[in-house]
Amino acid sequence: MAEVVIYTKDYCSFCMSAKHLLDSKQVPYREINVTGNRAAEEEMVRRSGRTTAPQIFIDGRGIGGSDELFDLNDTGELDLMLGHAPGESEKLMPKQSTAPEEVLILGSGAAGLTAAIYTARANLKPMIVEGRAAGGQLTMTTEVENFPGFPSGILGPELIGQMRQQAERFGARFVMGDATAANLQESPLTLTVDGEQVRTRALIVATGADARLLGLESERKFIGRGVSTCATCDGFFFRDKEILVVGGGDSAMEEATFLSKFASKVTVIHRRDKLRASKIMQDKAFKNPKIAFLWNSEVQEIRDGGKGKVESAILKNLKTGAQTEVATAGVFVAIGHIPNTKIFKGQLEMDENGYLITREGTATNRPGVFAAGDVADHVYRQAITAAGTGCMAALDAERFLEHTRA
Ligand code: NAP
Repeated sequence: MAEVVIYTKDYCSFCMSAKHLLDSKQVPYREINVTGNRAAEEEMVRRSGRTTAPQIFIDGRGIGGSDELFDLNDTGELDLMLGHAPGESEKLMPKQSTAPEEVLILGSGAAGLTAAIYTARANLKPMIVEGRAAGGQLTMTTEVENFPGFPSGILGPELIGQMRQQAERFGARFVMGDATAANLQESPLTLTVDGEQVRTRALIVATGADARLLGLESERKFIGRGVSTCATCDGFFFRDKEILVVGGGDSAMEEATFLSKFASKVTVIHRRDKLRASKIMQDKAFKNPKIAFLWNSEVQEIRDGGKGKVESAILKNLKTGAQTEVATAGVFVAIGHIPNTKIFKGQLEMDENGYLITREGTATNRPGVFAAGDVADHVYRQAITAAGTGCMAALDAERFLEHTRA
């Protein structure tokens, strides 16, 4: 039997997804939670060369994080590494019975989970495909201060955990993995999940949005080696270091504020001389003595000095054209998001940025397909609006099923 070690940390959705996948393979593994454990943290960084959790080792060989684990699973290599015959281990997706599902929900963030609560309570026994980053963006934030009902705030992962429990209590079924293809041309609708075909009478797309990257070659190269899109996931690896945050919106202010708890100095790099962030978030950042701002500037290149981890960045002043190299241990990119709609291209109407277009509530252009949360919202993108549209999609799906029931 292969020896599996996984380094994790608290409040890490990718760690949870990776552990779920390993659990489904029924392999024992040793979990080393590095939160608050400096020696374990240093060991993880030394062994993997990476400053992001989780990090997974199989028989002493570092295979990377959650994405790499899922990729190995998709190609069947993971089974071989774990000593299973290919296909011998459990599929993530149980084989479907002959009858189609009533409602399939893609995504397990605030929108997907609210849709799950409502459809489960309506006795529609929804199946929720969690996605690789189970729990969505809220699992990557810290304190949520503006979700009604929590006057002292609540941690994002805790809020998501409670929503999930609530959905499970009413009978929602969760499956891991991603939907990789969709055929929405005829009813029942067909989705491919973990290589299995799942048919469903109604579909709620709540696949959310992923962090946007700057698009630099060096940025991609150093992801997990100093470049990050998630302060709560990776911030504590930058204790007493100087780091950069790119962006001028609420996300950038939130990341900078959170990172200032660890870093010795955080410099926000913004391409204009005015922030897009809300006044309250701006004020918080301006007041923080550890946060500095560099205006009218963009990152042109990230460098490692041949050492495999970020050491500096080349910045360009967009007003003067002057280039400077600044020493930095990390570059946190917080410049917005891209909706997860790739598998629906050509089937569902979307705007030029890939956001799904809904009309009459949450209906898309395909009968029986509804959209909720950030995947269809480039304007509000709040936890509460995601939950609200998740509720609407559930009610819309319920009505659709009633009207189309034979
Ligand atoms: P955003 O509001 O779209 O801001 C993106 C920022 O990144 C902008 O300042 C933009 O610059 C900059 N940017 C975009 N592309 C860039 C590029 N290629 N290079 C350099 N800079 C680039 O995105 P967000 O900050 O992720 O916020 C999204 C939504 O979530 C908002 O509605 C926000 O209110 C919400 N949110 C709320 C909270 C909270 O309330 N706690 C926290 C996070 C996010 P320009 O300004 O020049 O366009």
